[in-house]
Amino acid sequence: MSENDWFDTGYEGLDKADEEYEKRAPDDNELRRVWLKPGQEIELVFETDEPACLWEHQLNMDGHWRNWFTCRRDMEDGCHICDHENDNPAYIGAYVARDMTGWKNKKGELRGVGRRVLYVGKRKTLKQLKSLKEKREARGLRGLKGVRFSITRSDSSSPNCGDLFDALGDEDMAALPEAGPMPNLREYFAPKTHAELQALFGVSGGGTGGGGGKPPEDEDIPF
Ligand SMILES: [Zn+2]
Repeated sequence: MSENDWFDTGYEGLDKADEEYEKRAPDDNELRRVWLKPGQEIELVFETDEPACLWEHQLNMDGHWRNWFTCRRDMEDGCHICDHENDNPAYIGAYVARDMTGWKNKKGELRGVGRRVLYVGKRKTLKQLKSLKEKREARGLRGLKGVRFSITRSDSSSPNCGDLFDALGDEDMAALPEAGPMPNLREYFAPKTHAELQALFGVSGGGTGGGGGKPPEDEDIPF
């Protein structure tokens, strides 16, 4: 590409673009949700024992399902999405965890090990984790916090956060890579205001074509 030009013919720019994407890719501070493909395994260390729980909408907008909105059903002025977008919220619980598996970039280099992530489950997963925690504690073991788990999603009909939990042992939390202060999940999940939702969806709703249907478990939601 010549200097001072935004236009390019041919493939020469691709390598450079790859580098650019690589820099953008998930080293950012955004808290990403763990999402597993069928058969995929991840190792996580939980940093919280108790989930932050709330009702949440997940809507198909702009051609994808990576659109989550905290439901306002329990708030005084009600929930615009419940009332106008024909969507039932899901009850979810979110844990803070560290991704001990990371990922490989195109050059085969391992990235992101120790990165802080959100582990979000729905009722079935929350019940599993509650039971797991209680059983472990009854045996005098750590519950979830500070424990490294291998989590596998057994197949495409299993939740995309995985369904098989295998405790691998206690983790030395002080030895984990620095990840800054723990996120405030109350702030992270703070619902949009009634006015913000109206602006987004239109006053009477239906503005996005969102709502209706459910995300297939296989929907491509890479973290
Ligand atoms: Zn709602």
